[in-house]
Amino acid sequence: MFMEITILRLGHRLPRDERISTHVALVARAFGASSFVYSGQIDHGLEESIERICESWGGSVNGSLFSVCYEKNPLSVIKKFKKSGFVILHLTMYGVSITSALEKIKISKEKEKLLIIVGSEKVPGEVYQLADYNISITNQPHSEVAALAIALDRIQEGKELSEKGFDFKGKIKIVPTEKGKKIVENQS
Ligand code: SAM
Repeated sequence: MFMEITILRLGHRLPRDERISTHVALVARAFGASSFVYSGQIDHGLEESIERICESWGGSVNGSLFSVCYEKNPLSVIKKFKKSGFVILHLTMYGVSITSALEKIKISKEKEKLLIIVGSEKVPGEVYQLADYNISITNQPHSEVAALAIALDRIQEGKELSEKGFDFKGKIKIVPTEKGKKIVENQS
């Protein structure tokens, strides 16, 4: 469905969000996004830990580099992506259900490029206005990690769960087994 997906994580706070923002980036990569942009406080540790994962396990879904970068001004990032034709989805418990939003997105055939915004503590009102769709994964407060994983799964209609779905072109890969653990060096 969507060919190019970027995740924008707003308002990263140190040390509070170290772990959760890293998990947002890991989910982004594993579930089909090709880049991760974050705002708030610069965190070299976050960037390095994602780069280390990519070093061993590969870049993104199509084997291209998974990029991680910091941007000071998230509103200008959103405007820039909008200008270059990205559909802007903002994940918020106040939004409309992802099921109904995806119906509309399909009808209007906005398919190619997608920016998904996840918040932290307080999301500026302008984000709600700039977003093409404010989307909820239930209207209950929970986690940005869970919200992003479910959103990416619904958007890609479960493709990321298929064993043959994506080729990350890592140095190593897992051979799925019913019992035990099998990791091999990648030949492809
Ligand atoms: N009051 C926030 C809100 O607007 O959803 C909850 C803050 S939560 C700690 C941080 C982020 O997780 C939110 O900005 C949103 O991106 C995501 N999130 C949490 N619950 C969500 C839900 N039910 N649906 C969609 N996204 C959610």
